[in-house]
Amino acid sequence: MKICELCAAQSKKTHNGKPHEDLMEMDAPRIFGGKPPRGFTEQDYKCLSCESRFTWSTSRTDLAWTLWRR
Ligand SMILES: [Zn+2]
Repeated sequence: MKICELCAAQSKKTHNGKPHEDLMEMDAPRIFGGKPPRGFTEQDYKCLSCESRFTWSTSRTDLAWTLWRR
């Protein structure tokens, strides 16, 4: 499936980038241990228009917005 323009733009956003308006949270955020800056949070999102899935991570060693291609 082709991804929508909003998702294409989303994959380039930074850690501070907000999810676009069609992205729905899929689950509760996953919180990994330690105090900042060691600890971090991941959140899964699914796009309502193109069904792309993203994982947003605050980890400095990960991509901020990981797009899961089918
Ligand atoms: Zn989309």
